[in-house]
Amino acid sequence: MGQLVVIGNGMVAHRLVEGVCRRDTHRQWRVTVLGEEPRPAYDRVALSSYVEGASEEELRLADLSADPRVELRLGEPAAAIDRENRTVTTAAGAVLDYDALVLATGSSPFVPPVAGRDLPGCHVYRTVDDLDAITAEAEAARAVSDAGVVIGGGLLGLEAANALRLLGLEPHVVEAAPWLMPRQVDEGGGAVLGRLVSDVGVRSHTGTAVDAVEPGDDGRASRVVLGDGTVIDTGVVVFSVGVRPRDALAREAGLVMGERGGVAVDGACRTSDPAVHAVGEVASVDGVCYGLVAPGNAMADVVADRLVGGDAVFPGADTSTKLKLLGVDVASFGDALATAPDALEVVVNDAPGKRYAKLVVSDDATTLLGGVLVGDASAYATLRPLVGRELPGDPLALVSPSGGGADGVGADALPDDAQVCSCHAVTKGALNAAIGDGNHDVADLKSCTQAGTGCGSCVPILRKLLSSAGVEQSTALCEHFAYSRAELVEVVRATGVTTFSELVSTHGRGRGCDACKPVVASILASLGNGHVLGGEQAALQDTNDHVLANMQRNGTYSVVPRVPAGEVTPDQLVTIGEVAREFGLYTKITGGQRIDMFGARIEQLPWIWKRLTDAGFESGHAYGKALRTVKSCVGTTWCRYGVQDSVGMAVHLELRYRGLRSPHKIKAAVSGCARECAEARGKDFGIIATENGWNLYVGGNGGFSPRHAQLLASDLDDDTLVRYVDRFLMFYIRTAERLQRTAGWIEDLEGGLDHLRDVVVHDSLGIAAELEEAMAAHVAGYTDEWRDVLEDPEKLSRFVSFVNAPESPDPSIRFETERQQPVPAMSGPVPLGMPAPHATVEGSPDVG
Ligand SMILES: Cc1cc2nc3c(=O)[nH]c(=O)nc-3n(C[C@H](O)[C@H](O)[C@H](O)COP(=O)(O)OP(=O)(O)OC[C@H]3O[C@@H](n4cnc5c(N)ncnc54)[C@H](O)[C@@H]3O)c2cc1C
Ligand code: SF4
Repeated sequence: MGQLVVIGNGMVAHRLVEGVCRRDTHRQWRVTVLGEEPRPAYDRVALSSYVEGASEEELRLADLSADPRVELRLGEPAAAIDRENRTVTTAAGAVLDYDALVLATGSSPFVPPVAGRDLPGCHVYRTVDDLDAITAEAEAARAVSDAGVVIGGGLLGLEAANALRLLGLEPHVVEAAPWLMPRQVDEGGGAVLGRLVSDVGVRSHTGTAVDAVEPGDDGRASRVVLGDGTVIDTGVVVFSVGVRPRDALAREAGLVMGERGGVAVDGACRTSDPAVHAVGEVASVDGVCYGLVAPGNAMADVVADRLVGGDAVFPGADTSTKLKLLGVDVASFGDALATAPDALEVVVNDAPGKRYAKLVVSDDATTLLGGVLVGDASAYATLRPLVGRELPGDPLALVSPSGGGADGVGADALPDDAQVCSCHAVTKGALNAAIGDGNHDVADLKSCTQAGTGCGSCVPILRKLLSSAGVEQSTALCEHFAYSRAELVEVVRATGVTTFSELVSTHGRGRGCDACKPVVASILASLGNGHVLGGEQAALQDTNDHVLANMQRNGTYSVVPRVPAGEVTPDQLVTIGEVAREFGLYTKITGGQRIDMFGARIEQLPWIWKRLTDAGFESGHAYGKALRTVKSCVGTTWCRYGVQDSVGMAVHLELRYRGLRSPHKIKAAVSGCARECAEARGKDFGIIATENGWNLYVGGNGGFSPRHAQLLASDLDDDTLVRYVDRFLMFYIRTAERLQRTAGWIEDLEGGLDHLRDVVVHDSLGIAAELEEAMAAHVAGYTDEWRDVLEDPEKLSRFVSFVNAPESPDPSIRFETERQQPVPAMSGPVPLGMPAPHATVEGSPDVG
């Protein structure tokens, strides 16, 4: 048996050892791993989840020391390599012989030589120990200021900012380049990204560097001074400006180095000494060190293969990245910055909708070279494997929602050799073979191919491959709940659970994610479990629900009081006008017959609500996935054609269903005759008066794919109409999937509209009484969310711009005047960052 020594116990070393053990069927190797960190190898890519509460055990990679061939020496770094005698000396003084040596020492964070960088309170962001140190200090840091500063606005810098946010600090990110994540996204994407992260409270300072970190009286970091003169008071500073390969050991051993550091390796990942390999972030391939896990894994696979006599060659690096940070989707793949000669760019820049999508294509627009997605990266899973291949359709249609998006392409468009999982280099062919072998769900596919176990971005394609192979798919909400939304509704109803933590601990696993938390919050609210900001529920809500107002592009909020059916008294109108004038708000009549007031700062919201509630208004739930409006024409009240009281019915329905939380927002309308002035057939439910009563239509709207509502029942009297609407809405709330509109829900129901009619009108499932009862409970339990906040000091306390200066308005919010009204002051149009004559399409009117 030969002796293999691996220096380093990070992600790539783990992959290597696991690969050697799996391939080494003739038991050629005994493996010793030297790890500097005192703990088993862990998933560094998922490190930030540690701040969110994941334990170190949850982050651990599989334990390889269970294999008798493997010896792990943790907390025992290598101190020197003697290549002549083929030995490694550890810091503990042990001398280990080797026949083959693999360097997998990774990188260390680079800290620029600014004054004060060594002060207590300054950190880097790389290891569990680093995060423990930052967490331990966050509390003390708050004594200085609520701000936390991250130096570096790249991928890791934003992760660090998120960590600071989770630790209760307001993150400031300093980036020398003119926009965030400059290595992954272009100027246009960077502009949208900047807005999105500012929406969630991250202050970015771009185009400026750090001059110094200055100490306070206690000698700890207490100020960061930027090149543009900005001074940020802070007690914690995290440096995240890049990494440097940890190549000192190799350098001292006389191995040849890469031009810009790192151990130089050839295509077999061999260093200048054939007995020594280097993999991962410490290796320099053609002068480049890769700071991502996918290239490291590919190197590990090459060396594992070579050690058992194979001839694998490093296939090159996939530097694609996708992340969802701070609730913001960002992805970049292939030649994202269009460096190839004559590359063309196709850009959809929907600045108001905060979405940016760019495809880089060959000069004849047939081959996909790369792309950038910001705000919505759902197309990433489909597009990334197509890099270097012929485009399956019009590039514009692939990134434009109105063109169907990349989702329509499907997994069938991928050739068998396309790499679906780039983290583990798994092709579509390999996945289909695994499906053919009987791996019939995503979990099985993950464990037998490793696809989907890295960054996880290819999981949607795994599902598509299973569907294409005719395998019925699980409707599980996410990895934390094995249930669909509809099933979870039943679980909550049956168990009476009232909190997310109880639900996830009894009927799920882990700590939840961005997908399941708001869904559970919505289910709990739908089933009448208290105020949306009550107790634990507050932390689960999406941004808008979180503050009972819609966040707008400059970080201010809009206030929309309920105006049932658009009917408003003159006194109430005057109040709205006075409030808008007093708080300097922009006002606009909406398409749903009410009045939006824009531009309120967070600390103004309670004052505005107070004025409005005193005048008899209440929240219009413009922020929630809930009933929005029941629009109406004037019907018999004024109109000479009207045959029923459309206003009265609309008021009745709007008040009945106000505050009703649902899988998607719901809009409705009532028209007083067949002339349809309220456009009721464009709504989730629409009512059109007839000589004999009311016709009820359902499933209109449809969002991106507009739908007309279809007739569910005709000539109903008032009571029957309301009963049917009660049943329809409750049935939808209980059985629809997350973010499924009524139109899509009806299409997906087995039996479609006919089945729905059977349930609602003929009570075919025998649940009508129960649905009506649930609605009656909702109506009886309704309270106004704004008033509830005003009456609860604890809820009220969150409505401040700065926790440490509750009275201070946010100085970065500025307005200018347009058509005699205030509008956000913008620094100019969103730059597209692309030279003419590339194809450009700006804006997508439907997504804003
Ligand atoms: C917070 C965070 C998020 C990230 N997110 C992503 C992401 O989303 N996608 C992505 O692709 N990549 C991401 N990365 C980068 C990714 O984690 C690295 O590319 C990958 O871990 C590199 O693996 P490695 O084994 O080469 O180095 P490492 O994982 O750093 O492992 C090297 C190990 O060697 C040890 N070591 C060093 N010197 C010695 C010595 N002399 N003796 C013994 N041991 C030694 C170190 O202590 C360390 O444990 C992220 C990194 C961080 C920190
Ligand atoms: S829908 Fe009929 S009742 Fe209503 S305003 Fe139009 S014409 Fe008049």
